[in-house]
Amino acid sequence: MSRAAVIGAGTMGNGIAHVFAQHGWEVALVDSVPAALEKATATIRANLDRQVKKGSLPADAPAGVLARIHPGTALDAVAGASLVVEAASENPAVKFAIFEQLDRLAGPATILATNTSSISITEIAARTRRPEQVIGMHFMNPVPVMQLVEIIRGHATSDATTASVMETARALGKVPVEANDYPGFVSNRVLMPMINEAVFCVMEGVATPEAIDTVMKLGMAHPMGPLALADFIGLDVCLAILEVLHRGLGDDKYRPAPLLRRMVAAGDLGKKTGRGFYEYAVKGEKGER
Ligand code: NAD
Repeated sequence: MSRAAVIGAGTMGNGIAHVFAQHGWEVALVDSVPAALEKATATIRANLDRQVKKGSLPADAPAGVLARIHPGTALDAVAGASLVVEAASENPAVKFAIFEQLDRLAGPATILATNTSSISITEIAARTRRPEQVIGMHFMNPVPVMQLVEIIRGHATSDATTASVMETARALGKVPVEANDYPGFVSNRVLMPMINEAVFCVMEGVATPEAIDTVMKLGMAHPMGPLALADFIGLDVCLAILEVLHRGLGDDKYRPAPLLRRMVAAGDLGKKTGRGFYEYAVKGEKGER
């Protein structure tokens, strides 16, 4: 039987646990905050029900999926897992501490993956005595829906680890893409400069947020405009990733737009605070600022 452990039961962790359990894995879902585990279980249940309503999952499947997910607060639940996917808060100190513990608690053959968006896989791996078995497994939000998993090889990640994780991603119904460990990997290195440039366009009065998003949706066939996407990701998260690109690649082309900094300083972080480039009066409702 395949056993995985997911560390962190927030936005990404609940989706990752859902997908593994849906594909027959037993999943230990670990979070240091008990309330996060309760919320994750409720979210997974609601998302499974939605899949049933849409006809993409048999009506009798959710009970089995939920029964395979084992929530808990103790990290030693990773002991029986062949793969651990860490999806805890995007904070280097938090991740380094988790990986030091995972290295002690997980079996010697266990692969330790991280879902980080911007922290160096190589630096995380260096906290363990098994850097060849540490890898990035970057799922996209919402995990049960999005097909891509960016697989990131750290400096020491072995071919065997990469092959195993690519195979697992395929078995989960995802499309894995391999990348090497440089700041932002592929996804954020290409996405964030586009978002940043859109913010510069707003700042310089080139066009309104709605006009910019319309150009990119109707002109470039993007399903979502860059500013609506930035609001969805969180402007604080976008700023943090741009800082990683700017610092890590040492090129001023990644400098965050001053307007992005100003909005973050003002607490206008996007959808989660009700205001970013758009206003979100009611959940899901959007109007130009
Ligand atoms: P989140 O804040 O929703 O959830 C993080 C969870 O980690 C929280 O429930 C928190 O209690 C828990 N946690 C913190 N420290 C812990 C510890 N020591 N042990 C166990 N649990 C701990 O965050 P998220 O948005 O789910 O992001 C998680 C990771 O996924 C981050 O590395 C982020 O960069 C990455 N990521 C996020 C997205 C996204 O769209 N949200 C997309 C791709 C990747």
